[in-house]
Amino acid sequence: MVERVFEKKVLQIIKKYRLASKKDKVLVALSGGKDSTSVLYILKKAGFDVSALMIDLHLGLWSEKHKKNMTGFCDELEVNLHVVDLRKELGSGICFIKQVVKEKKNLSGCTVCGVIKKWILNKYAKKLKATKLATGHNLDDEAQTVLMNFLKGNLYLGVGSKPATGRIQENEKKFVQRIKPLFFMPEEEIREYSKKMNFPVLYEKCPCAFGTYRIETREWMRDLNLTSKQKLKIVEGFQKLIPNLEKKEKGKRELRECKICGEPASHEVCNACCILSCLKEM
Ligand code: AMP
Ligand code: ZN
Repeated sequence: MVERVFEKKVLQIIKKYRLASKKDKVLVALSGGKDSTSVLYILKKAGFDVSALMIDLHLGLWSEKHKKNMTGFCDELEVNLHVVDLRKELGSGICFIKQVVKEKKNLSGCTVCGVIKKWILNKYAKKLKATKLATGHNLDDEAQTVLMNFLKGNLYLGVGSKPATGRIQENEKKFVQRIKPLFFMPEEEIREYSKKMNFPVLYEKCPCAFGTYRIETREWMRDLNLTSKQKLKIVEGFQKLIPNLEKKEKGKRELRECKICGEPASHEVCNACCILSCLKEM
């Protein structure tokens, strides 16, 4: 069956790149979309020690529907679901935060959302004592990242884009290692799998994601009509460049502790605290 072949391929990626072992405590960053839902299901079925974390971004009905779907799904799977409420955590929903930051710092909405999500996920993964944090990033996302950075003329921006990140010893306490079990799986195959499995997920993209460079790149890539093989070539080709890029970058980006929240930062204050300071200035 196609579904079993798909699951086998994902488990092979996990094994080949040593993304997780049965000793790990894996926290799946669950958005309620097809990708992270598939990751959660496959890991649980294969016997990994998994729990899930969903950030309620307060995007109206969109968030409500995702939360309801995933609460039911995790109940059925007998997986512990942690929901982090952005309003309780930061005092406002993501739309308000994005609007304020856009006006004050001229950052795109998706960048702001991405920084906040990453910050919360890392903070909670540590709090919940997870040893791995799994996301649903897929081959199409990764190919987009490579092409986007190429078009920006800065491939260095992608040095961290690997199936598993942050294993460097000194970072271990600061970052919970992030793993991407669908790194080499084309989006089309994931959609097909998720539909066959009847997962209770929404297939529409985030209603707030528009007008950013990543989305323009996604649309441009769609027009290019690349095959899965071509996307794989882009991603694998870039993976081969990473060791050289890392060598050249060594020592340039020192990792520190944010003086406000203590999370990892490349400057005195981390990107999330920098964004959140705008809200306090109001
Ligand atoms: P995105 O940045 O929306 O493309 O999502 C990339 C990955 O981040 C997803 O596959 C999830 O693993 C994770 N993610 C996105 N949104 C959320 C959310 N609201 N709560 C938890 N994890 C999320
Ligand atoms: Zn901070």
